[in-house]
Amino acid sequence: MTATSIDLINPADETLIRSIEHTSVEEVDEAVARAVAAQKRWAALAPAERASTLRAFAAVVDGAVEELARLEVLNSGHPISQARWEAGHVRDVLTYYSAAPERMLGSQIPVAGGIDVTFLEPLGVVGVIVPWNFPMTIAAWGFAPALAAGNAVLLKPAEWTPLTALRLGDLALAAGLPEGLLQVLPGRGDVVGERLVSHPLVRKIVFTGSTATGKRVMAGCAANVKAVTLELGGKSANVVFADADLEKAAAMAPSAVFENAGQDCCARSRILVERSAVNRFLELLEPAVKKVMVGAPGDEATEMGPLVSAAQFAKVASYVPDDRQVAFRGSAPDGPGFWFAPTVLLPGSRDDRVARDEIFGPVVSVLPFDDEADAIALANDSDYGLSGSIWTRDLGRGIRVSRGIESGNLSVNSNSSVRYSTPFGGFKQSGLGRELGPDAAAAFTEIKNVFLSDAP
Ligand code: NAD
Repeated sequence: MTATSIDLINPADETLIRSIEHTSVEEVDEAVARAVAAQKRWAALAPAERASTLRAFAAVVDGAVEELARLEVLNSGHPISQARWEAGHVRDVLTYYSAAPERMLGSQIPVAGGIDVTFLEPLGVVGVIVPWNFPMTIAAWGFAPALAAGNAVLLKPAEWTPLTALRLGDLALAAGLPEGLLQVLPGRGDVVGERLVSHPLVRKIVFTGSTATGKRVMAGCAANVKAVTLELGGKSANVVFADADLEKAAAMAPSAVFENAGQDCCARSRILVERSAVNRFLELLEPAVKKVMVGAPGDEATEMGPLVSAAQFAKVASYVPDDRQVAFRGSAPDGPGFWFAPTVLLPGSRDDRVARDEIFGPVVSVLPFDDEADAIALANDSDYGLSGSIWTRDLGRGIRVSRGIESGNLSVNSNSSVRYSTPFGGFKQSGLGRELGPDAAAAFTEIKNVFLSDAP
C-alpha cells in the first residue's frame, strides 16, 4: 500500500491479488463534471429507451455471472455458490428497476381553477458509497433504481473490495450505458467518500456501512442540505419460542448468522431462546454449527469462507479472547488466510459486549428470555433495529412479536431478509430510509408540483 494505491489481498491465502490506484479529489471532481453532462443526456431520453438500456445492462451482467462470482471469491473470500447468487441478484435488481422509467407516475390532484400535476424529477448526480461485505449487491441496490429514475451515479466501493464494482462499470459501458453515467471511483473513504459527500453537485448520498461512519456522512450531507439514505449496522435477534419447531429453528440458525462469515448486516447474531427450551435448543444447535462447511471459497461445497481482512480478523478475535464464554465451535482451516471458526457464546449477562456490539464475524450469543413481553424487550434492547426472525407455531404470537420488535425487516419461521421487490432498511441506528422494493426509484427523485390555470 502507498499513499496513492492499495494492495488487494486474497483473504483465503493472504496472497497479493493486485494493486489498485486510489482516486484523488481532483479526479472525483472531474468525474462529477462528466456525470453532470451524462445525466442531462440520459434524463432527456425517452423512458422506453432508458428502460431498454437497463435491460441490456441486466443481460450483459447475466452473461458475466460466473466471471463476477469468481472475482468476488478472489477479492472477498465469498463461497462460490453465494457469489453466484450475488451476481445473479445484481442482474435481477437491474431487471426489476428497468421497468421503472416507464412507471415513474406523478399524480393529478383536484384543485380549483385549473389542473395540478406532479412530476418525479431526477435528482441529478447521486453518490453511492458501499461497504466491503457485499460489494456488488449493495452497489446495485443503489445504482439500479438511481439510474432508472434518470440520475447519473458515482459508485465508491470499499477500499479492500473494488474488483466486482470496477467490472460492473465496464459491463455498463459494454451494455450501451452512456459514458460517464455510471462511474466507479475506488479509493479511500476519507478522500473519495468525503468528496462525494461535500461536492455541491452530488445531490444525494446512499451510504451503506458502519453506524459511526454513517453519522459522519449524515453530518456532511447536512452541510449542503443533501438527501441521504443510510444502511448501517445491526445486532439482530433470532427469537425462538418453546412452542416453535425447534429442530427447524436450530437447523437454520447457523446460516442466519454465519453466512458470509457473519459479515452480514442482517446477521442474527443474538439467538434469544425461551428459558424452558434453552437446553434442548443448544443440543440441536451444536451439530448444526459443527456441520457448517468452512473452507476454500472456490469449492462448490463450501458454506463459509474466511473473514475479509487481517483487520477484521483481529476485531472479531478480540471478542473471543479465551474459551470462557464459548459453548461450542465449528471448524476452520489453519492459516494462511483469515479463518475464524463459527462460534457460539453464552454471555454472562445481557449487557456483555458480545451481546450488544455488532461483531461482524461468525460469533453468536445465545440469551434466555422468560415470556413474550421479555422477548420483545430483549430484542429491542439494542441501538440497532435492522433485521430478525421469530420462531413459533402460534401465528398470533408471530404477529404480536413482529409488531412489537423495532426492526425494519423481520420474518416469522424463516430467516429471509432481502428480496429486491420488498423494502429494506433499518430502525433506530441501523439507518434512515429504505432501499429496494417498489418505491426505491422514487427515492431518487424530487417531486415537482405544477399548477396549470384554466383561466381564459
Ligand atoms: P465503513 O463505514 O468503514 O465503510 C463503508 C464505506 O464508507 C466504505 O466505502 C468506506 O471507504 C467509506 N467511508 C469511510 N469513511 C468515510 C467518510 N468519512 N466519508 C464517506 N465515506 C467513507 O463500513 P465497512 O466496515 O466497510 O462495512 C461494515 C459495516 O457496514 C457494518 O457495520 C455493517 O453492518 C454495515 N452494513 C450495513 C448494511 C445495511 O444494509 N444496513 C449492509 C451491509 C453492511
